[in-house]
Order: sequence, then C-alpha cells, then structure tokens
Amino acid sequence: MRLILLGPPGAGKGTQAKILVDTYGIPQLSTGDILRSAIAAKTPLGLEAKAIVDRGDLVSDAIVNGIVSERLDAEDCKPGFILDGFPRTIAQAEALDQMLVDKGVKLDAVIEIKADADELVRRVIQRAKESGGARADDNEEVLRKRLGVYQEQTAPLVAYYAEGGLLKTVNGMEPVDQVTAAIKAAIAH
Ligand code: ADP
Repeated sequence: MRLILLGPPGAGKGTQAKILVDTYGIPQLSTGDILRSAIAAKTPLGLEAKAIVDRGDLVSDAIVNGIVSERLDAEDCKPGFILDGFPRTIAQAEALDQMLVDKGVKLDAVIEIKADADELVRRVIQRAKESGGARADDNEEVLRKRLGVYQEQTAPLVAYYAEGGLLKTVNGMEPVDQVTAAIKAAIAH
C-alpha cells in the first residue's frame, strides 16, 4: 500500500498516519518529523532548515526531495509507505512521480483530509498547549502563515492528483475513528 496524506496543518494527517501504520504494517514518512529530528540533533540539514521551519515557510524542494528519495530506498518501504507532509508543491509531486517510476512502483491513493480553517486553528493551538511548546511553529501567527502557504503551494496538488485519478477526499471534521473508517473505505474502492 502506497499512500499520500494531503491536507492543511491540523487536518489530522499525523494522527491518521500513525493509525494506518498499524493497520497496513507500513511506515509513516513525515518530512516534518524528519526535519524536526534534524533540527533537534543540530545536523547540517537541521541547521539549514531551522529558521525556515520556525517561520512557517517551506524548505527547498531539492532538500525534501533528497530526504524522501533516500528514505524510500530503505528496506522497510518495500511493502509500502504513508507519505505525510510530502509532496507539498507541484514540483515535489513531479519529483515523486519520477522517483516512483525509477523504483518501478505506483501510488495506490492520495487521501485529502479536509477541515474548516477555524477548526484547524483550534486544533493546532490545542496541540501547542498539550506539547508544552515543543514546536516553535505551533503558534497562531506562524500557523496563519502555514495555512497561507498551504493554500498557495499545496492546495494545487488536489487537482494534480484528481487528474491522475488517485484522489479520495475525506471529512477531517469527524471524530478520529470515523475519519479512519472513511480513509479505509476510500482505499478499498
Ligand atoms: P504541518 O502539516 O502540521 O504544518 P509538518 O510537520 O508536516 O507540519 O511540517 C512542518 C514544517 O516542516 C513545514 O511548515 C515546513 O517548514 C517543513 N516541511 C515539512 N515537509 C515539507 C515539504 N515537503 N517541503 C517543504 N517543507 C516541508
């Protein structure tokens, strides 16, 4: 099973990805998590990415494409993977298409998780409180920036994958288990 979870910050991509990891026995590839680990470990990548991530901008396509390409070659991705937070631009989607051609594999589905802007803000502010400020980008100002970046750069992927016949849309406003059920049903069809 090879899946992409698409949706704005706070839509529930990470939450659903973790559940689907158990269901399908495939890894979650979160570019956000990979970048945050690099930042915490102060690796060269982390030092380069920190200011960009903290202000809510996108790290360059070249950097994230490299991260994903390398990660997809790992043994645990052989049976499949769940991409969470990648691709985020049309250029990243095109790069991913090429990586998959090179590896001789195909995506099964792109799941778009939709939610209202007010609910997204509420969830991310809640996440910030619960995590004790672990994420420098989970504050209202940077969040609004990330939502704007999503609308501008990532939302066009909905049409991109709809054209390819891969897009399935679920309602991210429902309770977590209902969203999971909707995703599983969408995959099965
Ligand atoms: P969320 O979906 O909650 O906004 P993520 O954890 O997916 O957060 O990403 C956090 C930040 O990491 C982004 O705002 C961006 O700076 C960086 N990032 C993650 N994935 C990508 C990507 N595919 N391309 C560019 N930047 C990325």
